[in-house]
Amino acid sequence: MKITKPTLIVDEKKAAENIGKMMEKISLSGNVRFRPHFKTHQSTRIGKLFRDAGITAITVSSVSMAAFFAGNGWNDITIAVLVNPLEIGAMNELLARKINLNLLVDSTEMVNFLEERLEYPVHLWIKIDTGYHRTGIEWNRENEILRVAEAINDASKLQLSGILTHSGHSYHAVSTAHIKTVYGETVSRMNAVRNFLEPRMKGSGEVEVSIGDTPTCSMVDRFDGAAEVRPGNFVYYDVMQLMLGVCLEENIAAAAVCPVIARYPQRNELVIYGGAVHLSKEFVTNRDGNKVFGLIALPDPTFSSWGRSIENTFVAALSQEHGIIKTTADFLKKVKVGDLLAVLPVHSCLTANLLGERG
Ligand code: PLP
Repeated sequence: MKITKPTLIVDEKKAAENIGKMMEKISLSGNVRFRPHFKTHQSTRIGKLFRDAGITAITVSSVSMAAFFAGNGWNDITIAVLVNPLEIGAMNELLARKINLNLLVDSTEMVNFLEERLEYPVHLWIKIDTGYHRTGIEWNRENEILRVAEAINDASKLQLSGILTHSGHSYHAVSTAHIKTVYGETVSRMNAVRNFLEPRMKGSGEVEVSIGDTPTCSMVDRFDGAAEVRPGNFVYYDVMQLMLGVCLEENIAAAAVCPVIARYPQRNELVIYGGAVHLSKEFVTNRDGNKVFGLIALPDPTFSSWGRSIENTFVAALSQEHGIIKTTADFLKKVKVGDLLAVLPVHSCLTANLLGERG
């Protein structure tokens, strides 16, 4: 592999280990389906790691991503954003391939729209807001949720699978104990909704509970109270998860390899060709109050892995295509223009989306 510009590399051994660990917890949890989110990697190669581990159901975040993975042999797919009515044509094209498609709704209007405009049957999940306040019906508005469930039941093409939530507020937790609390609260709120709905659905089957974000799914040992879990980021992890205390540095399985294009010994700075368009503008704040846009490590010669992150060395600022690395005199002495450095990303889903080559 010859690298000449910002390029995503993946340590597949670590990714497979991350998948294996999550699978093990799922198998200990009894009857829980693992439906990993594929937006993190968007890669057929990493998809194969999941397939080899026995996964058959996946989550994606757009109709086009669903079409990409349907073309790669995945036929049980949840598009985990609320339905975009403007893409009804693309959804019908996808359904024409006879895949098992799961869509998200949070209003009777959307249920009615889908019943009228879809050409094939689909499974629907009602999106519930358990505290993130992004989308979904608030978990305690039970009658509103029931009205949507009844509208689905009355429709001929639509099948209610259950209720689905994403506790993205786990990313704002102040401790790992807090992350576990978010899990407990999510599951108890979702089961309160399920217990309200099920007896009122006149025997039309089980109302499943689908949850899943990397912080909570990494911190708990079992997935009690859920029928399905959908974490995605855990396959690569990243510096944000490291700062949250959710993973160790050695679990991070993706890095952006970037060429050094300038060195400034007078201010202990290196500049890489690798900026916001490659890494994303996400940052974390380190113990000294500095913004960190990525940690720095040395890639292996084969680019299949990298070493430990270099002490006191991090991407401190980004412009569109430049990254400014603050480092030590000692490390700076060892680096020359034209060398390649591995940037451990702050948010691997965004970096993989920007740099990953589909396929
Ligand atoms: N489910 C939904 C609806 C999401 O939006 C996301 C991520 O944004 C996930 C699952 C996966 O969560 P994570 O990225 O924390 O693994």
